Amino acid sequence: MIIQYNTGISDEEHQSVLAKLKVWGFRVQPNPGSEGTTPETHIQVDNVFGPVTDLHRREISNFDCVRQVIAIEGVPQNLALLRHGKHQAVTLPNPHGAKPVHIGGDYPLTVMAGVCAVDKVHTLASHQMAKRAGADMNRGGAFKPRTSPYDFQGMKEEGLQVLCEVREEVGLPIVSEILDVRDIDLYMKYDVDLLQIGTRNAQNFELLIEAGKSGKPVMYKRGFSNSIDESLKAANYIMEQGNENLIFCLRGVKGIGHSFRNQGDLDEIVALSQVMARPIVYDVSHSSGKKSAVSGIGNMAAAGGVDGILLDVHVAPQEALVDGFQAIDSEEELAGMISTWRKLRDLARGSAR
Ligand code: PEP
Ligand code: MN
Repeated sequence: MIIQYNTGISDEEHQSVLAKLKVWGFRVQPNPGSEGTTPETHIQVDNVFGPVTDLHRREISNFDCVRQVIAIEGVPQNLALLRHGKHQAVTLPNPHGAKPVHIGGDYPLTVMAGVCAVDKVHTLASHQMAKRAGADMNRGGAFKPRTSPYDFQGMKEEGLQVLCEVREEVGLPIVSEILDVRDIDLYMKYDVDLLQIGTRNAQNFELLIEAGKSGKPVMYKRGFSNSIDESLKAANYIMEQGNENLIFCLRGVKGIGHSFRNQGDLDEIVALSQVMARPIVYDVSHSSGKKSAVSGIGNMAAAGGVDGILLDVHVAPQEALVDGFQAIDSEEELAGMISTWRKLRDLARGSAR
């Protein structure tokens, strides 16, 4: 279980809870990240390990100094993801653009929109369109993980070059998927603002470690065949390298007879925000694989309080190199969606968290 305390509790109050846990023989891991904050904002958190039952949780909840007790099955032993005990924002400094971009915490919904695969002809216009419609960031794949070796694998380094040239014009930070640990230097050379770990690399631990060590913010996508417990453990590999700038992205999973490209995992927005202090993004394009579903699924994610929405856009989807069928091509529609998502997300935040 995880114990969150009220702000400004005394050492005596804390010790009384610890004494109780000691009697029960539970191991207590104080949350290291809770140190150093001011008394007004200080939320102390203890992670407790042992054979905890509902009775234990109820008894701890009864202490006046306890804000809430969270029971989680299969919590990773090292909860780096819960550092600071409250929802943390990740800031992308955006040295190639006008101003930093924030995601998570108390900031409004962040929208990441761009082409699935970078191309020479339409990436600039697509990313400009996304910006005009209200997107905060651009996404673009240079190295593409394809199921079949006979499919286009991305423009690779040239794609990163194009992405960076487009960034100079548009001014929004970029997120791009890194496939291989050997490419870390390349992503540093092009100063990619946010490294994306794709669903197929979700348990490529060496890549997670090196991405964590790079010091760049990392967006980790849940593996499409991984449980949430496995996903949290994997994401902890990134943070364990001393990298606090982790964003967790849900994108649907393999399921049983669902209607879309993947089975949506929208409910995890609510579940994860209770056990994780990191920003959560929902990929409405790769979860659904349908242009017509993007708006509705985005509405659900926003109403669930998600921190960011990721989607594919393309000004000429019929000419897109990958995934044109799921890309939004109308600026007007996109602007309408983004505006609705922001309102729904603000409403959700008024009542939750
Ligand atoms: C992508 O974002 O382009 C992508 C391939 O996503 P995923 O790893 O979720 O399939
Ligand atoms: Mn795609």
